[in-house]
Amino acid sequence: MTEITLRDLAAIPIGRLKGVGPKKEAALEKVGITNVLDLVTTYPRRWVDRTNEARIADLVPGEEALVLVTVRSVTKRTTRNRRTMVNVNVGDGSGRMDLVFFNQPWRERQLKEGLQIALFGKADTYRGGLQMSNPVVDLIGDRTGRIVPIYPQSEKAQINTWEMAGWIEESLRRCAERGIADPVPASILREHGLADRATALHGIHLPEEIRQKEIARRRLAFDELLRVQLVLVLRKRLMEREQRGIAHQISGELVDRFYTALSYDLTGAQKRTIAEIEADLAAPHPMHRLLQGDVGAGKTVVAVATMLAAVEGGHQAALMAPTEVLAEQHAAGISELLAGVTVPDPGNLFGDRPLRVELLTNRVTGAERKDVMAGLADGSVDIAIGTHALIQDKVDFASLGVVVVDEQHRFGVEQRAALRDKTVDGTTPDTLVMTATPIPRTAAMTVYGDLDVSILDELPPGRTPIKTHWANGPLMETGVWQEVRDEIKAGRQAYVVCPLIDESEKLEVASAQETFERLQHDELEGLRIGLLHGRLTPGEKEQTMEAFRAGAIDVLVATTVIEVGVDVPNATVMVILDADRFGIAQLHQLRGRVGRGEHASVCWLVTQQTEEENPRVEALVSTTDGFALAEVDLDLRGEGTLMSTAQKGRSDLKLASLRRDRKLVELARNAAFEIVDADPLLAQHPQLADELDLIFSDRDEEFLAKS
Ligand code: ADP
Ligand code: MG
Repeated sequence: MTEITLRDLAAIPIGRLKGVGPKKEAALEKVGITNVLDLVTTYPRRWVDRTNEARIADLVPGEEALVLVTVRSVTKRTTRNRRTMVNVNVGDGSGRMDLVFFNQPWRERQLKEGLQIALFGKADTYRGGLQMSNPVVDLIGDRTGRIVPIYPQSEKAQINTWEMAGWIEESLRRCAERGIADPVPASILREHGLADRATALHGIHLPEEIRQKEIARRRLAFDELLRVQLVLVLRKRLMEREQRGIAHQISGELVDRFYTALSYDLTGAQKRTIAEIEADLAAPHPMHRLLQGDVGAGKTVVAVATMLAAVEGGHQAALMAPTEVLAEQHAAGISELLAGVTVPDPGNLFGDRPLRVELLTNRVTGAERKDVMAGLADGSVDIAIGTHALIQDKVDFASLGVVVVDEQHRFGVEQRAALRDKTVDGTTPDTLVMTATPIPRTAAMTVYGDLDVSILDELPPGRTPIKTHWANGPLMETGVWQEVRDEIKAGRQAYVVCPLIDESEKLEVASAQETFERLQHDELEGLRIGLLHGRLTPGEKEQTMEAFRAGAIDVLVATTVIEVGVDVPNATVMVILDADRFGIAQLHQLRGRVGRGEHASVCWLVTQQTEEENPRVEALVSTTDGFALAEVDLDLRGEGTLMSTAQKGRSDLKLASLRRDRKLVELARNAAFEIVDADPLLAQHPQLADELDLIFSDRDEEFLAKS
């Protein structure tokens, strides 16, 4: 008899289990459990240790604790102000206590006399006895054993934790005869002190002591991470083997001319990063590199040097931005940086012609568009800057050598892949993905696991630190406007960012308009105020920006269009209204618009008055380090948002956490390299290969492949 694999488990429908009739089967299906694999990978959400929890007699009023009790009686009534109130009397060997639930009428049905439950909450003294109000309740049912696993339960689907426990126990018992296969090489398990799979599955569901469940969790989380890393590493190695890239000829002449024209020296981090990129460009296989750099770290220069290296070798370069506004800003900025740079042109009398940079977005139309397209096709456009319009099928490049994707904080995976497919006679252009949102290293390994990573971790010298304050409520806001006035009197300039309105540019523009008018007639009366938002024409935007740059506007009221690319060193005040509506990364980006000159800068985060804590705003106040903020962001949001569509469904990280399991992510990544580099097609590891096939749907794999 061969050992049971995950695929075998997935082939056993849930209805085959004792006690799962058609009704339960339908209920389980509703929560996404159709087979035994789904069942045994539904892990407990908590474990209650019967011998270690408090007894009623031990409870200290005012302190939170977990107690295991039996329900004695339940009554329901409606209070004078029409709230329902369920009173429950519970007890254990040591004493009795009352529970009270407000507005949870269903508790009456849930908590039957004689039922064992685990309660988590704070007990208080009430009329001489102990009482808990609205505690967290876990039903334990009639489970025996020292440690009771508590499964996610569904009121709606009518599945109890002890039913889940029973079915899982039965499944594992039936597996025991044949044994559960372990596809991970024993040497790797040994090296990292990981339990075998059968032990782990048993330990997570039926631990005899808490320590067993910890050991089990580590192994099962490792499996989840290893699978993701295997897919990514397989893909990475495959691309390296199969894709033909351009071995760029880099003399350095053009790039050197560009450096000489710069008014500053490159930072050490910029030099190091550019060297890493140039090595990739010169190699025969295509580059797939991620450039992470905090706001203001100077990514643009790196992007430009990368593109020039391609141009120098006789190829073209493209830069793709996530929005038209950003593309326009990049085009303007980069054209300025490259003004006066010439490229060798044998067909020209002087042997040289000006480097040609063009913008291509959906707003470039008519004859202008035709002209740019023709230039891309015949090679006379050296650098194209645009949006996704750049990857439309109709756009032909003579010889696209490098693609820079400026993702900001969007992970525009599909687009990146499409651009990469713009190949010329079977070669794949080198790709550099830039992100302004630092993401923690281990998260980067997963989200961008098939890319190499460069980090710009050094800010250019001469930056003045930005002081950040939280203005909570109208009283403090008044002070903010006074400070804006003072700074402007001292010759500085300010930004005011208007509230973010999800999903609606129209509403956002309306609110910016309103803020603009209010400030003009009220708080900032008499100052020269400009308005910038996404609905203006490029011409209007450029005019406003130019006026602000030139100092003809004191205060620029704007939507988030100013998030990136805007660089006015004399602007020293940033006011962000309704700051609590923005994410950490976005606030950090916006704040990065100030602190770019010699004068001290300040950022005000304005919120409507609230008593509550505001961890995101507080994080911004406490640090300006983008990588530190990224860690906080990951802590606050959890990894769900980071993983986006990549790990939905079965391939979800159920136990592993990119946040808590940083070490394990690295272990898994190293193990994946170890396995794949010794066995590139997993021919020696058929069970592992089969598992990937089983767990990752084609869509997942495509996604992972495309990143
Ligand atoms: P990022 O895109 O990484 O946020 P930018 O490329 O916009 O940053 O650069 C921010 C500012 O820093 C720009 O004004 C740029 O001219 C300037 N800068 C970039 N590199 C250097 C450097 N090595 N020394 C001084 N200033 C620099
Ligand atoms: Mg190359």
